Amino acid sequence: MNKEFIDKSYEGNLSREDIIYALNLSDSDDINQLFSISNDIRKKYCGDAVHIRALLEISNICRRNCNYCGVRKDNTHVSRYKMEEEEIIEIALKLNADSFKTLVMQGGESEAFSPETLARIVRTIKEKTDMAVTFSLGEHSYDDYKLWKEAGVDRFLLRHETANKELYKYLHPDGILDTRIEALNNLKELGYQTGVGCMVESPTQTIEQMADDIEFIRDFKPHMVGIGPYIMHEDTPFKSEKNGTREMTLKMLALARIVTKDALLPSTTALASIAKDGQKEGLLTGCDVVMINFTPAKYKYFYEIYPNKKCMTEDPKNIVKKVTDMIHSIGRTVATDHGHSRKIKK
Ligand code: SAH
Repeated sequence: MNKEFIDKSYEGNLSREDIIYALNLSDSDDINQLFSISNDIRKKYCGDAVHIRALLEISNICRRNCNYCGVRKDNTHVSRYKMEEEEIIEIALKLNADSFKTLVMQGGESEAFSPETLARIVRTIKEKTDMAVTFSLGEHSYDDYKLWKEAGVDRFLLRHETANKELYKYLHPDGILDTRIEALNNLKELGYQTGVGCMVESPTQTIEQMADDIEFIRDFKPHMVGIGPYIMHEDTPFKSEKNGTREMTLKMLALARIVTKDALLPSTTALASIAKDGQKEGLLTGCDVVMINFTPAKYKYFYEIYPNKKCMTEDPKNIVKKVTDMIHSIGRTVATDHGHSRKIKK
């Protein structure tokens, strides 16, 4: 591997040219060296603790028609649900009693819950537990983001999906990249720990366009970054497209770690769903977060954004045990704090 690239990686100072060089690496020793650099950077800036987050998919009702997503509005093969307010709170209390420190509430983009209902749910959770709350609910107005921030939401994940305008339009017939980025800027300005991120090898995506993502991640300076492979869903316009690969996803995770140094970086369920040891490999390639799905069984089948999601059949308690064992097996520890962004002091 090019010595200059190695030095620049350790400095966290990659140009577009360097990023493209890394994405094009094909020799397995070179690729492993890239992964070991990102693992070193993770160790230096983030330490050995892995943050386990509890995920709750609160609704699959969605107003958007993202061409890759199984819960897109026009998919009539999926039953739509919305969790009850009391149910969400009850689960949050249980998770808190089981020592979880972060609840991630994810869902389709919709008005299934009014902004005020969501704010009320968060106020109750904040009053009764010591958990951090993350939202991942799509694009909303500045005023709604402000209301939720004031209610106590700590973090907001809103993947940019792709930082290339043309590809963004191809993936999202009813959205534009500028609006997504404006929403991300609003979240950051309001003081959220803000998460960006993208899919890897979405249909027609080129290496140049992947470099656009890493440059965007480098320049936005996010608190969190979510990156996973694109996975084909039968009930979407992209039903004949190929899945993203393990290797390219790991390269993108490695580069995200190198350019951000200290971002919270989950080893995603999507990666675990396409590769047997995907979750572990992600943790060995710079990741420091794992999310475990606690959506009640009666709903989670319907939150099928992509098929064969790794969490579908197994009891989440077993998954927690397996993930904890896996974390220990690679010489890492499970974090006991809230796992807030290292960019803020809490
Ligand atoms: N409505 C929210 C949450 C979307 S689901 C929002 O807009 O942010 C969370 C993420 O799942 C998305 O950001 C997308 O990157 C990913 N996703 C959706 N469908 C997918 C698929 N078929 N393959 C891989 N990732 C997918």
